[in-house]
Amino acid sequence: MLYFPGQITIAKGPMFAGKSKLLIRIVRTHGSQSSLVFKAGIDTRYLGAGAICSHDGESTPAVPVGTNLDQIVKGVEQWIARWRCPPGNLLVVVDEVQFMGPEIVDVARRLMDLGVCTVFAGLDLDFRGDPFGSMYDLTQLAHTVINLRADCRVCGAPATMTQRLIDGSPARRDSPLVQVGGPESYEARCANCHSVPEE
Ligand SMILES: [Zn+2]
Repeated sequence: MLYFPGQITIAKGPMFAGKSKLLIRIVRTHGSQSSLVFKAGIDTRYLGAGAICSHDGESTPAVPVGTNLDQIVKGVEQWIARWRCPPGNLLVVVDEVQFMGPEIVDVARRLMDLGVCTVFAGLDLDFRGDPFGSMYDLTQLAHTVINLRADCRVCGAPATMTQRLIDGSPARRDSPLVQVGGPESYEARCANCHSVPEE
């Protein structure tokens, strides 16, 4: 993969499509010394919020970001001032973008203006199959879009959707976006096998 100053890349797809694995590989290839990695603070799977972790156990440290997304731009400006490097040498990675507020689009524009290379990653669709957070708007800004696919757990076809299951059954459309309590799980599924009962 080639990076140019001010370029924005988006890596998107359903769960289990290998987004975290791709991000970890991108950071390793670019060099962790010249990479700044951020992720939405909500995700506490595996090692917790302070790292990007793949499902097969690899990880790379990440700065957890809450609701104040200015933290990303400030972190990048401080890095540039501290190391006095051309901004184009810096790779910025932002993971779990679907959990971030709409200000992330403005953050992307500011990173572009600063001249750093940025990779955003996240789920493009929620469990209902609707656009998730600001992922769609962000995709319109991107120079490169990487569509990651999993294998459908039911039929094996390329999966673009994330199926949410509650007690083993497809979650209803009106169930909350973030489930509190009750056993829930997720599967990657193709559009044919994906199911969202209305009631
Ligand atoms: Zn299928």
